[in-house]
Amino acid sequence: MSEKETIFSKIIKKEIPSTFLYEDEHCIVIDDISPQAPVHMLVIPKKPLPRLVDASAEDKDLLGHLLLIANEMAAYREVADAFRIVINNGARAGQTVFHLHLHVLADIQSDVGFSETDMVDKN
Ligand code: AMP
Repeated sequence: MSEKETIFSKIIKKEIPSTFLYEDEHCIVIDDISPQAPVHMLVIPKKPLPRLVDASAEDKDLLGHLLLIANEMAAYREVADAFRIVINNGARAGQTVFHLHLHVLADIQSDVGFSETDMVDKN
């Protein structure tokens, strides 16, 4: 596959500095530089698939792996009970970096089972 350089391919090749929260032979995980939630990580495959729609049957294991790593990272950040996975596919869907990535988004308080307002006596 011919690889078009993106900011993520450069981060993967360590041509641009970034802190890897996790790395294995298939993917890296980094914090989003412009977080949209208290927890906002990106799970990025090393294979340079531009968009989700460019994946094929041969990528089935890779796509599963990315989701399982998202699970593990949510647990690591203690938000496993409440997080969202977002994949923007295509410019009109908001994709800006054309190297597949999963956004893992969560409110840091998500594992707290109740808030102070839940404790107000409703009788
Ligand atoms: P998308 O709009 O789905 O393509 O998401 C691209 C994401 O990459 C955005 O949320 C950006 O904030 C994030 N981003 C861009 N450059 C960097 C970078 N150098 N390090 C971490 N995140 C980045």
